[in-house]
Amino acid sequence: MKTIHGVKGFHDVVPPQSERCTEIEGRLRAVLAAYNYGEIRTPIAERTELFTRSLGDATDIVEKEMYTFDDRDGTSLTLRPEGTAAVVRAALEAGLAQRDQVAKLWYLGPMFRRERPQKGRLRQFHQVGAEVIGRDDPLVDAEVVTLLMDCLGACGLDGAELVLNSLGDAACRPAYRAALAAYGRSRSELLCANCRQRLDRNPLRLLDCKEPGCRRAMAEAPLAHAYLCAPCRAHFAEVERLLQAADVPYRVEPRLVRGLDYYVRTAFEVVAGNLGAQNAVGGGGRYDGLVADLGGPPLAGVGFAIGIERLLLATATADYRTPAPEVDVIPLSIEAAPAAGRLARRLRGLGVRCELEVAGRSVKSAMRRADKLAARFAVLIGDDELRAGRATVRDMRRQADHPLALVVDDDGPALAQALRELGAAGGTHE
Ligand SMILES: [Zn+2]
Ligand SMILES: [Zn+2]
Repeated sequence: MKTIHGVKGFHDVVPPQSERCTEIEGRLRAVLAAYNYGEIRTPIAERTELFTRSLGDATDIVEKEMYTFDDRDGTSLTLRPEGTAAVVRAALEAGLAQRDQVAKLWYLGPMFRRERPQKGRLRQFHQVGAEVIGRDDPLVDAEVVTLLMDCLGACGLDGAELVLNSLGDAACRPAYRAALAAYGRSRSELLCANCRQRLDRNPLRLLDCKEPGCRRAMAEAPLAHAYLCAPCRAHFAEVERLLQAADVPYRVEPRLVRGLDYYVRTAFEVVAGNLGAQNAVGGGGRYDGLVADLGGPPLAGVGFAIGIERLLLATATADYRTPAPEVDVIPLSIEAAPAAGRLARRLRGLGVRCELEVAGRSVKSAMRRADKLAARFAVLIGDDELRAGRATVRDMRRQADHPLALVVDDDGPALAQALRELGAAGGTHE
Protein backbone atom coordinates (compact mmCIF):
# COMPACT_ATOMS: atom_id res chain seq x y z
CA MET A 1 0.00 0.00 0.00
CA LYS A 2 1.11 3.57 -0.60
CA THR A 3 2.68 5.27 2.43
CA ILE A 4 0.83 8.26 3.87
CA HIS A 5 3.13 11.21 4.52
CA GLY A 6 2.71 14.13 6.91
CA VAL A 7 1.65 17.55 5.60
CA LYS A 8 4.29 19.96 4.26
CA GLY A 9 5.29 22.46 6.94
CA PHE A 10 3.63 20.41 9.69
CA HIS A 11 6.33 18.55 11.60
CA ASP A 12 6.34 15.63 13.96
CA VAL A 13 8.37 16.06 17.13
CA VAL A 14 10.02 12.78 18.03
CA PRO A 15 12.58 11.78 20.68
CA PRO A 16 15.11 13.07 21.51
CA GLN A 17 13.86 16.43 20.15
CA SER A 18 10.60 16.05 22.08
CA GLU A 19 12.61 15.58 25.28
CA ARG A 20 14.40 18.84 24.56
CA CYS A 21 11.05 20.56 23.95
CA THR A 22 9.74 19.36 27.30
CA GLU A 23 12.88 20.52 29.05
CA ILE A 24 12.79 23.96 27.42
CA GLU A 25 9.08 24.31 28.21
CA GLY A 26 9.78 23.43 31.84
CA ARG A 27 12.38 26.17 32.09
CA LEU A 28 10.02 28.69 30.49
CA ARG A 29 7.21 27.74 32.89
CA ALA A 30 9.50 28.27 35.86
CA VAL A 31 10.48 31.79 34.73
CA LEU A 32 6.87 32.75 33.94
CA ALA A 33 5.73 31.48 37.34
CA ALA A 34 8.48 33.46 39.04
CA TYR A 35 7.14 36.62 37.37
CA ASN A 36 3.67 35.68 38.69
CA TYR A 37 1.95 35.26 35.32
CA GLY A 38 -0.95 32.81 35.06
CA GLU A 39 -1.27 30.27 32.26
CA ILE A 40 -4.12 30.61 29.78
CA ARG A 41 -5.09 28.00 27.17
CA THR A 42 -7.25 29.09 24.27
CA PRO A 43 -8.63 26.93 21.42
CA ILE A 44 -6.76 26.42 18.17
CA ALA A 45 -9.69 27.68 16.07
CA GLU A 46 -11.34 31.09 16.40
CA ARG A 47 -13.87 33.08 14.43
CA THR A 48 -12.05 34.54 11.43
CA GLU A 49 -13.14 38.10 12.26
CA LEU A 50 -11.10 37.97 15.49
CA PHE A 51 -7.96 38.02 13.35
CA THR A 52 -9.13 40.25 10.50
CA ARG A 53 -10.18 42.85 13.05
CA SER A 54 -7.11 42.64 15.31
CA LEU A 55 -4.25 42.00 12.88
CA GLY A 56 -5.46 44.36 10.16
CA ASP A 57 -6.61 43.64 6.61
CA ALA A 58 -3.37 44.77 5.05
CA THR A 59 -1.06 42.42 6.92
CA ASP A 60 0.61 39.49 5.18
CA ILE A 61 -0.96 37.12 7.68
CA VAL A 62 -4.55 38.12 6.93
CA GLU A 63 -3.98 38.58 3.22
CA LYS A 64 -2.35 35.28 2.41
CA GLU A 65 -1.23 33.15 5.34
CA MET A 66 -4.30 32.16 7.35
CA TYR A 67 -5.86 28.70 7.38
CA THR A 68 -9.47 29.74 7.01
CA PHE A 69 -12.41 27.43 6.38
CA ASP A 70 -16.16 27.35 6.75
CA ASP A 71 -17.56 25.29 9.56
CA ARG A 72 -20.54 23.10 8.58
CA ASP A 73 -22.96 25.80 9.68
CA GLY A 74 -21.24 28.38 7.48
CA THR A 75 -19.31 30.16 10.27
CA SER A 76 -15.88 31.19 9.01
CA LEU A 77 -13.19 29.78 11.30
CA THR A 78 -9.42 30.29 11.27
CA LEU A 79 -6.60 28.32 12.84
CA ARG A 80 -4.92 30.87 15.08
CA PRO A 81 -1.91 32.49 13.37
CA GLU A 82 -0.73 34.13 16.61
CA GLY A 83 -1.66 34.18 20.28
CA THR A 84 -2.43 37.73 21.38
CA ALA A 85 -5.87 38.26 19.83
CA ALA A 86 -7.23 35.03 21.31
CA VAL A 87 -5.76 35.78 24.74
CA VAL A 88 -7.38 39.22 24.74
CA ARG A 89 -10.71 37.73 23.63
CA ALA A 90 -10.57 35.01 26.27
CA ALA A 91 -9.47 37.39 29.04
CA LEU A 92 -12.41 39.67 28.23
CA GLU A 93 -14.89 36.79 28.15
CA ALA A 94 -13.63 35.42 31.47
CA GLY A 95 -13.73 38.87 33.08
CA LEU A 96 -9.98 38.76 33.78
CA ALA A 97 -9.28 42.08 32.07
CA GLN A 98 -11.31 44.94 33.49
CA ARG A 99 -10.85 48.59 34.23
CA ASP A 100 -9.60 48.03 37.78
CA GLN A 101 -7.91 44.69 37.24
CA VAL A 102 -4.67 43.80 35.49
CA ALA A 103 -4.43 40.44 33.72
CA LYS A 104 -0.94 38.93 33.53
CA LEU A 105 -1.16 35.83 31.36
CA TRP A 106 1.04 33.46 29.42
CA TYR A 107 0.33 30.78 26.84
CA LEU A 108 2.13 28.05 24.96
CA GLY A 109 0.87 26.18 21.94
CA PRO A 110 0.77 25.68 18.17
CA MET A 111 0.09 28.51 15.71
CA PHE A 112 -0.62 28.17 11.98
CA ARG A 113 0.54 30.26 9.03
CA ARG A 114 0.72 29.18 5.41
CA GLU A 115 4.18 30.55 4.64
CA ARG A 116 6.85 29.00 2.48
CA PRO A 117 8.50 26.43 4.77
CA GLN A 118 12.23 26.89 5.34
CA LYS A 119 14.72 26.56 8.16
CA GLY A 120 13.14 28.10 11.25
CA ARG A 121 9.77 28.56 9.54
CA LEU A 122 7.02 25.97 9.66
CA ARG A 123 3.32 26.14 8.86
CA GLN A 124 2.47 24.71 12.26
CA PHE A 125 4.89 26.27 14.70
CA HIS A 126 4.84 26.80 18.44
CA GLN A 127 4.96 29.95 20.48
CA VAL A 128 5.22 30.79 24.13
CA GLY A 129 3.97 34.27 24.90
CA ALA A 130 3.04 36.59 27.73
CA GLU A 131 0.48 39.38 27.82
CA VAL A 132 -0.25 42.11 30.35
CA ILE A 133 -3.68 43.63 29.81
CA GLY A 134 -4.82 46.70 31.69
CA ARG A 135 -1.74 48.86 32.31
CA ASP A 136 -0.15 51.51 30.12
CA ASP A 137 2.77 52.20 32.46
CA PRO A 138 6.29 52.01 30.93
CA LEU A 139 7.14 49.85 33.93
CA VAL A 140 5.12 47.06 32.34
CA ASP A 141 6.87 47.45 28.96
CA ALA A 142 10.17 47.06 30.80
CA GLU A 143 8.92 44.08 32.80
CA VAL A 144 7.67 42.29 29.70
CA VAL A 145 10.96 42.87 27.87
CA THR A 146 12.92 41.71 30.92
CA LEU A 147 10.71 38.63 31.19
CA LEU A 148 11.35 37.85 27.51
CA MET A 149 15.11 38.09 28.02
CA ASP A 150 14.96 35.96 31.18
CA CYS A 151 12.92 33.30 29.36
CA LEU A 152 15.53 33.16 26.59
CA GLY A 153 18.39 33.19 29.09
CA ALA A 154 16.86 30.30 31.07
CA CYS A 155 16.87 28.26 27.85
CA GLY A 156 20.56 28.92 27.33
CA LEU A 157 20.33 31.47 24.52
CA ASP A 158 23.47 33.60 24.66
CA GLY A 159 24.56 36.41 22.43
CA ALA A 160 21.12 37.34 21.16
CA GLU A 161 20.50 41.02 20.53
CA LEU A 162 17.48 42.94 21.80
CA VAL A 163 16.36 45.74 19.49
CA LEU A 164 13.84 48.32 20.51
CA ASN A 165 11.81 51.06 18.88
CA SER A 166 8.80 53.26 19.44
CA LEU A 167 6.14 53.27 16.72
CA GLY A 168 4.13 56.18 18.13
CA ASP A 169 0.44 56.10 18.92
CA ALA A 170 -2.91 57.22 17.55
CA ALA A 171 -1.91 60.86 18.11
CA CYS A 172 1.40 60.88 16.27
CA ARG A 173 1.52 57.86 14.00
CA PRO A 174 -0.80 59.12 11.24
CA ALA A 175 1.66 61.90 10.41
CA TYR A 176 4.53 59.42 10.33
CA ARG A 177 2.57 57.01 8.13
CA ALA A 178 1.80 59.83 5.73
CA ALA A 179 5.46 60.91 5.63
CA LEU A 180 6.61 57.34 4.94
CA ALA A 181 3.98 56.86 2.23
CA ALA A 182 4.97 60.12 0.56
CA TYR A 183 8.65 59.18 0.71
CA GLY A 184 7.92 55.72 -0.70
CA ARG A 185 5.76 57.15 -3.48
CA SER A 186 8.59 59.44 -4.54
CA ARG A 187 10.71 56.32 -5.10
CA SER A 188 8.00 53.88 -6.12
CA GLU A 189 9.80 52.85 -9.32
CA LEU A 190 12.50 51.25 -7.10
CA LEU A 191 10.04 49.32 -4.92
CA CYS A 192 8.98 45.70 -5.31
CA ALA A 193 5.38 44.95 -6.31
CA ASN A 194 4.54 44.00 -2.74
CA CYS A 195 5.78 47.30 -1.34
CA ARG A 196 3.99 49.31 -4.04
CA GLN A 197 0.79 47.74 -2.79
CA ARG A 198 1.73 48.59 0.78
CA LEU A 199 2.26 52.28 -0.02
CA ASP A 200 -1.25 53.31 0.91
CA ARG A 201 -2.39 50.55 3.19
CA ASN A 202 0.62 49.71 5.32
CA PRO A 203 3.57 52.03 4.59
CA LEU A 204 5.41 51.09 7.80
CA ARG A 205 6.17 47.71 6.29
CA LEU A 206 8.25 49.42 3.59
CA LEU A 207 11.01 49.61 6.22
CA ASP A 208 10.73 45.88 6.77
CA CYS A 209 11.09 44.59 3.20
CA LYS A 210 14.11 42.37 2.56
CA GLU A 211 14.29 43.11 -1.21
CA PRO A 212 17.60 44.86 -2.01
CA GLY A 213 15.83 47.44 -4.20
CA CYS A 214 13.44 48.36 -1.42
CA ARG A 215 16.24 48.56 1.13
CA ARG A 216 18.12 50.96 -1.11
CA ALA A 217 14.99 52.97 -1.84
CA MET A 218 14.14 53.31 1.85
CA ALA A 219 17.70 53.88 3.13
CA GLU A 220 17.06 57.57 3.79
CA ALA A 221 13.42 57.22 4.77
CA PRO A 222 12.04 59.33 7.64
CA LEU A 223 12.26 57.55 10.99
CA ALA A 224 9.57 57.23 13.63
CA HIS A 225 11.43 58.99 16.39
CA ALA A 226 11.30 62.38 14.70
CA TYR A 227 7.50 62.15 14.63
CA LEU A 228 6.82 60.99 18.20
CA CYS A 229 4.55 63.23 20.26
CA ALA A 230 5.72 64.35 23.72
CA PRO A 231 3.88 61.60 25.67
CA CYS A 232 5.26 58.89 23.36
CA ARG A 233 8.74 60.33 23.69
CA ALA A 234 8.48 60.38 27.50
CA HIS A 235 7.11 56.81 27.56
CA PHE A 236 9.99 55.51 25.46
CA ALA A 237 12.60 57.37 27.51
CA GLU A 238 11.21 55.78 30.68
CA VAL A 239 11.26 52.28 29.14
CA GLU A 240 14.92 52.86 28.23
CA ARG A 241 15.75 54.12 31.72
CA LEU A 242 14.13 51.08 33.34
CA LEU A 243 15.87 48.60 31.04
CA GLN A 244 19.21 50.23 31.79
CA ALA A 245 18.47 50.01 35.51
CA ALA A 246 17.62 46.31 35.08
CA ASP A 247 20.92 45.69 33.25
CA VAL A 248 19.13 44.53 30.12
CA PRO A 249 21.31 45.47 27.12
CA TYR A 250 19.47 46.70 24.03
CA ARG A 251 19.95 48.69 20.87
CA VAL A 252 17.47 51.28 19.62
CA GLU A 253 16.64 50.38 16.03
CA PRO A 254 14.60 53.19 14.45
CA ARG A 255 13.75 50.99 11.45
CA LEU A 256 12.18 48.22 13.52
CA VAL A 257 8.52 47.74 12.65
CA ARG A 258 6.47 44.66 13.43
CA GLY A 259 4.40 42.61 11.01
CA LEU A 260 1.14 43.26 12.84
CA ASP A 261 -0.92 46.44 12.69
CA TYR A 262 -1.92 46.62 16.32
CA TYR A 263 1.40 47.64 17.87
CA VAL A 264 1.76 51.17 19.25
CA ARG A 265 4.63 52.82 21.09
CA THR A 266 7.09 50.17 22.29
CA ALA A 267 8.05 47.45 19.80
CA PHE A 268 10.91 45.02 20.27
CA GLU A 269 12.54 41.99 18.76
CA VAL A 270 15.30 39.58 19.75
CA VAL A 271 17.55 38.35 16.96
CA ALA A 272 19.98 35.46 17.21
CA GLY A 273 23.14 35.57 15.13
CA ASN A 274 23.18 31.88 14.24
CA LEU A 275 19.79 31.47 12.59
CA GLY A 276 20.25 32.80 9.06
CA ALA A 277 17.35 34.58 7.34
CA GLN A 278 14.69 33.73 9.93
CA ASN A 279 16.69 35.19 12.79
CA ALA A 280 14.01 36.66 15.06
CA VAL A 281 13.63 34.38 18.07
CA GLY A 282 11.01 36.51 19.76
CA GLY A 283 9.40 39.89 19.77
CA GLY A 284 6.41 41.89 20.77
CA GLY A 285 5.21 45.28 21.77
CA ARG A 286 2.44 47.42 23.13
CA TYR A 287 -1.09 47.17 21.72
CA ASP A 288 -3.14 49.77 23.53
CA GLY A 289 -5.94 49.96 20.97
CA LEU A 290 -6.51 46.25 20.56
CA VAL A 291 -8.77 45.53 23.52
CA ALA A 292 -11.21 48.26 22.44
CA ASP A 293 -10.96 47.10 18.80
CA LEU A 294 -12.18 43.70 19.95
CA GLY A 295 -15.17 45.23 21.68
CA GLY A 296 -13.70 45.52 25.18
CA PRO A 297 -13.13 48.55 27.42
CA PRO A 298 -10.27 50.91 26.49
CA LEU A 299 -7.55 48.87 28.18
CA ALA A 300 -3.87 49.00 27.38
CA GLY A 301 -1.85 45.89 26.64
CA VAL A 302 1.72 44.76 26.06
CA GLY A 303 3.20 41.34 25.35
CA PHE A 304 5.71 39.16 23.56
CA ALA A 305 5.94 35.82 21.81
CA ILE A 306 8.90 33.46 21.40
CA GLY A 307 9.11 30.96 18.54
CA ILE A 308 9.86 27.61 20.17
CA GLU A 309 11.32 26.01 17.02
CA ARG A 310 13.69 28.93 16.48
CA LEU A 311 14.67 28.90 20.14
CA LEU A 312 15.46 25.18 19.80
CA LEU A 313 17.55 25.89 16.69
CA ALA A 314 19.36 28.78 18.32
CA THR A 315 20.21 26.77 21.43
CA ALA A 316 20.86 23.45 19.67
CA THR A 317 23.40 21.33 21.47
CA ALA A 318 25.43 18.94 19.37
CA ASP A 319 24.66 15.71 21.16
CA TYR A 320 21.31 15.96 22.83
CA ARG A 321 20.11 12.44 23.52
CA THR A 322 17.08 10.85 25.07
CA PRO A 323 17.84 10.40 28.78
CA ALA A 324 18.99 6.87 29.52
CA PRO A 325 16.86 4.69 31.79
CA GLU A 326 18.12 4.39 35.35
CA VAL A 327 17.14 0.76 35.54
CA ASP A 328 16.71 -1.96 32.92
CA VAL A 329 14.66 -4.85 34.37
CA ILE A 330 15.46 -8.14 32.65
CA PRO A 331 13.48 -11.34 33.15
CA LEU A 332 15.81 -14.17 32.15
CA SER A 333 13.03 -16.74 31.74
CA ILE A 334 9.38 -16.79 30.82
CA GLU A 335 8.63 -17.78 34.43
CA ALA A 336 10.35 -14.62 35.70
CA ALA A 337 8.27 -12.29 33.50
CA PRO A 338 5.41 -11.64 36.00
CA ALA A 339 7.80 -10.84 38.86
CA ALA A 340 9.87 -8.60 36.58
CA GLY A 341 6.71 -6.80 35.47
CA ARG A 342 5.65 -6.19 39.08
CA LEU A 343 9.09 -4.93 40.07
CA ALA A 344 9.28 -2.60 37.05
CA ARG A 345 5.86 -1.18 37.81
CA ARG A 346 6.80 -0.43 41.40
CA LEU A 347 10.05 1.22 40.32
CA ARG A 348 8.12 3.36 37.84
CA GLY A 349 5.61 4.21 40.56
CA LEU A 350 8.54 5.60 42.56
CA GLY A 351 9.47 7.81 39.60
CA VAL A 352 12.39 5.73 38.38
CA ARG A 353 12.92 5.81 34.60
CA CYS A 354 12.72 2.09 33.97
CA GLU A 355 12.85 -0.17 30.92
CA LEU A 356 11.32 -3.66 31.00
CA GLU A 357 12.79 -6.26 28.65
CA VAL A 358 11.03 -9.16 26.98
CA ALA A 359 11.50 -12.45 28.80
CA GLY A 360 13.84 -15.26 27.93
CA ARG A 361 16.94 -13.53 26.53
CA SER A 362 20.34 -14.96 27.35
CA VAL A 363 22.27 -13.04 30.01
CA LYS A 364 24.79 -12.04 27.38
CA SER A 365 22.28 -10.53 24.96
CA ALA A 366 20.38 -8.90 27.84
CA MET A 367 23.60 -7.23 28.99
CA ARG A 368 24.34 -6.04 25.47
CA ARG A 369 20.91 -4.48 25.40
CA ALA A 370 21.29 -2.78 28.82
CA ASP A 371 24.62 -1.46 27.58
CA LYS A 372 23.06 -0.07 24.42
CA LEU A 373 20.35 1.66 26.44
CA ALA A 374 23.10 3.11 28.66
CA ALA A 375 21.06 2.06 31.69
CA ARG A 376 22.75 2.79 35.02
CA PHE A 377 21.66 -0.53 36.53
CA ALA A 378 20.49 -3.82 35.08
CA VAL A 379 18.15 -5.76 37.32
CA LEU A 380 18.19 -9.49 36.51
CA ILE A 381 15.50 -11.93 37.52
CA GLY A 382 16.13 -15.57 36.60
CA ASP A 383 15.18 -18.84 38.18
CA ASP A 384 17.77 -18.47 40.98
CA GLU A 385 16.52 -14.99 41.80
CA LEU A 386 12.90 -16.20 41.82
CA ARG A 387 13.80 -18.94 44.30
CA ALA A 388 15.71 -16.51 46.54
CA GLY A 389 13.12 -13.75 46.14
CA ARG A 390 15.91 -11.26 45.35
CA ALA A 391 16.85 -9.71 42.04
CA THR A 392 20.48 -9.33 41.02
CA VAL A 393 21.45 -5.69 40.53
CA ARG A 394 24.30 -5.10 38.12
CA ASP A 395 26.09 -1.78 38.15
CA MET A 396 26.56 -1.18 34.42
CA ARG A 397 29.16 1.53 34.88
CA ARG A 398 31.40 -0.56 37.11
CA GLN A 399 30.55 -3.74 35.21
CA ALA A 400 30.02 -5.57 38.50
CA ASP A 401 27.14 -6.88 40.53
CA HIS A 402 25.97 -4.30 43.01
CA PRO A 403 26.04 -5.59 46.61
CA LEU A 404 22.47 -4.40 46.93
CA ALA A 405 19.69 -6.81 46.00
CA LEU A 406 16.16 -5.71 45.16
CA VAL A 407 13.54 -7.78 46.92
CA VAL A 408 11.44 -9.12 44.08
CA ASP A 409 8.11 -9.07 45.86
CA ASP A 410 8.55 -6.32 48.35
CA ASP A 411 5.75 -3.83 48.38
CA GLY A 412 7.26 -0.65 49.62
CA PRO A 413 9.68 0.39 52.33
CA ALA A 414 12.47 -2.02 51.46
CA LEU A 415 12.26 -1.14 47.77
CA ALA A 416 12.28 2.59 48.49
CA GLN A 417 15.25 2.07 50.80
CA ALA A 418 17.02 0.03 48.15
CA LEU A 419 16.46 2.75 45.56
CA ARG A 420 17.84 5.41 47.85
CA GLU A 421 20.92 3.26 48.31
CA LEU A 422 21.16 2.73 44.57
CA GLY A 423 21.03 6.47 44.04
CA ALA A 424 23.58 7.09 46.76
CA ALA A 425 25.85 4.38 45.51
CA GLY A 426 25.59 5.12 41.82
CA GLY A 427 24.57 8.73 41.55
CA THR A 428 21.84 8.02 39.03
CA HIS A 429 21.05 11.72 38.65
CA GLU A 430 24.17 13.38 37.40
ZN1 LIG B 1 9.65 45.55 -1.08
ZN1 LIG C 1 2.47 59.68 20.23
